[in-house]
Amino acid sequence: MTANCAVIVAKDEGEAWTLAKEAILKGAEALEFRLDSFPVIPADLSFLACGVPSIATLRSPLDEERKDIFLRALASGAKYIDIESDSVLRNRFPKEQVICSYHDFEKTPAEDEILAIFNDLRSSGIPKAAFMVRGPADLLAVWSAASVLREKGAPFILIGMGAAGEVTRIRSSDLGSMLNYCALRPELASAPGQITLEEAERLGTDPQVAAVTGYPLTHTFSPEIHNAAFKAAKIRGRYVKIPSAPEELLLIPEVIRKYRIIGMNVTIPHKESVIPFLKRIDPLAESAGAVNTIRNSPAGLEGYNTDILGIAASLASVDADPKGAEALIIGAGGAAKAAAAYLKAAGAHISIANRTFARAETLAELFGARSVKIEDLKPAYTIILNATPAGMSGFEHCSPVPHTIFTKDTVVMDMIYDPEVTPLLAAAKAAGVRACINGKTMLIEQAAASFTLWTGITPDRAVMRKAFEARAA
Ligand code: NAP
Repeated sequence: MTANCAVIVAKDEGEAWTLAKEAILKGAEALEFRLDSFPVIPADLSFLACGVPSIATLRSPLDEERKDIFLRALASGAKYIDIESDSVLRNRFPKEQVICSYHDFEKTPAEDEILAIFNDLRSSGIPKAAFMVRGPADLLAVWSAASVLREKGAPFILIGMGAAGEVTRIRSSDLGSMLNYCALRPELASAPGQITLEEAERLGTDPQVAAVTGYPLTHTFSPEIHNAAFKAAKIRGRYVKIPSAPEELLLIPEVIRKYRIIGMNVTIPHKESVIPFLKRIDPLAESAGAVNTIRNSPAGLEGYNTDILGIAASLASVDADPKGAEALIIGAGGAAKAAAAYLKAAGAHISIANRTFARAETLAELFGARSVKIEDLKPAYTIILNATPAGMSGFEHCSPVPHTIFTKDTVVMDMIYDPEVTPLLAAAKAAGVRACINGKTMLIEQAAASFTLWTGITPDRAVMRKAFEARAA
């Protein structure tokens, strides 16, 4: 049984008491007092006898001085003292009073190495190790090491740090970890990826977990949007980021199964390459040749494309009717494919332009469309749809096409939502086009459709939009 352990980071004894009471009221089943947060270690450590098992942690000062403080902590009511594996103090206290800890802030080693670390730590007390999780391989190493440790039956604490490690904290009960360390308040988080006590209590021991994968995953707004939707729907659910380098994408299905993830969004650059790893592809996703949503169903992993619904809703919101329209898609990746699938089904005449012309040709052939070189583009389109990251925050601040191609009748959609106004949209507006729309509506609509696929519930779009705006602010 995993206990939620709130980390108490206080400046003095009075604050330690206040925060301890707050944590216990919020449901903490154990407290870790970071004695190293005190500028001066208080003479009175009686807060360590706070009514729930407490841990005294002190990473400095020198060992001899620390030894006395640890002795005082135990005498004052601490159930455990936390001592790092490289300290000479680790074998100077009764094993049952020691949590012997190891941290790697860079990486997660392979399963064998994790188990060797735990073997070593166990000789001094309850073993605790925290590893920086970088992606699927690290998550699976944590999972398989935890399975071996669980079998042994003795208590252990295993944590995956960082944003990609968040799922190990949410699934700490499944892992069998004795404690789930939580931040009392977001600003008091003492380790990367730590969730708040309130969130851990809300989630309980068996939450629904959804995720997004892509590489890199720095700019996604999806966690904020989905987490707001989970809360509004009163679902014990959490949406996490699991970045996956291309060479680790094949491990994603196992991560989904092991960590019991109900579904995953797939973004740049995996929308096409993920397809071979799925059991069934929905016809709409098949028509696009791209998947942005995975659903973990009892029959296996299913691939869907909710981007298509997002594009349809976005164009409808500015009354752009694709039937018979001359439509230009810029880009030839997964999102461009979704656009082509939608526009073809809706009866548009499609042209495709892309930085790498050969890819535009291939995509055009696939959808019975025309391919056009960027330098040959003319003002001939009533719908222009950017499906490239050109102009997105973190990418080059530029337009993917010359600004001479707009007319008064053109509707310009940029799939980018950050920034709100891309160079392409700014130029289109300045040229007086009929309507401009960025990627926000598409993002919300594709997210809402994914959410429904995973939970069977229609989410509150107003809540999702509010979460988007809060993140964008
Ligand atoms: P992708 O599969 O990686 O494809 C990227 C496409 O953009 C390729 O055609 C690539 O051209 C082109 N490209 C990349 N960098 C470029 C640059 N600096 N200048 C010009 N062209 C460039 O990505 P994707 O999944 O299709 O996503 C494309 C864009 O749509 C991204 O900005 C993404 O954020 C956005 N999107 C938004 C939503 C939403 O909900 N709002 C949903 C999906 C996608 P090459 O072939 O030459 O490499």
